[in-house]
Amino acid sequence: MSHSLTDPADAPTPARRDFIRDMVAEDVADNRFQRQIATRFPPEPNGFPHIGHVKSICLNFGIAAEFGGRCNLRFDDTNPFTEDIKYVDAIKNDVKWLGFEWDAELYASDYFGKLYDFGELLIKKGKAYVDSETDEEIREHRGTVTTPGTHSPYRDRSADENLDLLRRMKAGEFPDGAHVLRAKIDMSHPNMIMRDPLLLRIRHAHHYRQGDAWCLYPLYDFAHPLSDAIEGITHSLCTLEFKDNNDIYKWLVTECGFERPPEQTEFSRLELDYTVLSKRKLLRLVNEKLVAGWDDPRMPTIAALRRRGVTPEGLRAFAEAAGVSRKPARTELATFEHAVRDDLNMRVPRVMCVTNPLKVVLTNYPEGQVEQLEASYYPHDVPLTGSRGVPFTRELYIERDDFMEDPPKKFFRLAPGREVRLRYGYFITCTEVVKNAAGEITELKCTYDPATRGGDSPDGRKVQGTIHWVSATHALDCELRLYDKLFTVPNPDDVEDGQDFMSMLNPESLVVVPGAKIEPSVANDPTGTRYQFERTAYFVSDVIDSKPGALVFNRTVTLRDSWAKMKGK
Ligand code: ATP
Ligand code: MG
Repeated sequence: MSHSLTDPADAPTPARRDFIRDMVAEDVADNRFQRQIATRFPPEPNGFPHIGHVKSICLNFGIAAEFGGRCNLRFDDTNPFTEDIKYVDAIKNDVKWLGFEWDAELYASDYFGKLYDFGELLIKKGKAYVDSETDEEIREHRGTVTTPGTHSPYRDRSADENLDLLRRMKAGEFPDGAHVLRAKIDMSHPNMIMRDPLLLRIRHAHHYRQGDAWCLYPLYDFAHPLSDAIEGITHSLCTLEFKDNNDIYKWLVTECGFERPPEQTEFSRLELDYTVLSKRKLLRLVNEKLVAGWDDPRMPTIAALRRRGVTPEGLRAFAEAAGVSRKPARTELATFEHAVRDDLNMRVPRVMCVTNPLKVVLTNYPEGQVEQLEASYYPHDVPLTGSRGVPFTRELYIERDDFMEDPPKKFFRLAPGREVRLRYGYFITCTEVVKNAAGEITELKCTYDPATRGGDSPDGRKVQGTIHWVSATHALDCELRLYDKLFTVPNPDDVEDGQDFMSMLNPESLVVVPGAKIEPSVANDPTGTRYQFERTAYFVSDVIDSKPGALVFNRTVTLRDSWAKMKGK
């Protein structure tokens, strides 16, 4: 198969505008940070990245590129219990596949030494102390939203005593939970996070990168702002759930002495209908084997969307369509599917595949004759060229749904006595319906009009329907995997008490069609090749399971929004 692609980079980039880009543009104009703009994508390597992360990736890398800045890929890997190198690899692979290049690959765990030093610095400044209360006491003394907290009895330890304890904590002298390092801020602060937040805690645990080098682990609120500051980040972009963390962010980068420190700005998370975007929930689906893995094409992960046939350009177009704002909102599945279709429409070849075959015998077509009919890969409105020969023979398969014995008024396809056009082929007329003992249709006998080759009749005769087909002698067997929504409701988290998102799984999210028939031109295409199966849907050959002689195709997206159509009825 040969076809040329237009380079998507040639397409004009629309001028993107959102509140974050406006802010960055102003900062650049004022030279506010007196250095190059710097952003970062900061995943925790505890799961595969999902389509929500695409939004964050496109935003961080996009802003750096648009404003002549740089963007780091930084793993926020400060939790020894949940992180794994396999997630690091998946994240790197997916960011690259999306089309972005990071300026530096960095790890918060490489800053453990620096973070520890900041702990000592804060102690010396009288801004941190070692607390020896239990977790429970700490929680009790924090107060509530309406009542202030109370001071820990250890809050006024001397700097020397604090330093001594911290050094011994680091040296591994104490068991988990014996002491913690806390910032000394304000136990009656209206923002609960500011009530002497924990900075370092003892965990005798093995870290996937640092091994057993550390038994002191930083809390997210300690590690994240300072990692940004260490890297010289200017704009720390994160989702709205970190809004209340902004106070501690500012406090830490200031107290630790950074000049023109990074500033945190929050935007609303992407929430996509009919799926969940939380690594914790996706991990449950994987662990409980409700999906085949992180890359099961029903999952909202980048790996799954890739396996489903979505392109990087399609995903980036979707992220752009979803937009960046401060207002929490759900994005309709139609927005996603529209972006995917728009992208595939302009790039993939059209081929013919019959999902549910019904045999047609052309009684006036010579037995053993094979004609190669020239069929274009692309419609006229797609600026790509290429074609292949499609074998035409006496025995064909058409779609069972394209025939009705007793058709209703608006049915324009094949019926007894009715003439239709075979795409790229001839007009055929149904002359006989063959049935088995059970009364099921097993075969149609038809005649073809030799004068209509190519799809037009010299006598100007019109037909109302054009249907797809394959040669019964040349078609290849294939398996189609029809993927649908993973959940039955738009917001799977919106459930009654006592239930959770798991009860909303769609039992029909995967329908396997084993006996489909596809034209032979696809036989030697590499796995992962994308197509439009004419009149059916966009498909991709499965990179893992499709083999020569045992082809498997995943449905990427239907041709139209059949859901909206159904609702409209
Ligand atoms: P999850 O809720 O899926 O576990 P997370 O926030 O814990 O996500 P991180 O690895 O910490 O996952 O996320 C890396 C970056 O991606 C963070 O800056 C985070 O704000 C951003 N991000 C995560 N989920 C979304 C989303 N749904 N929409 C936009 N950005 C997101
Ligand atoms: Mg997170």
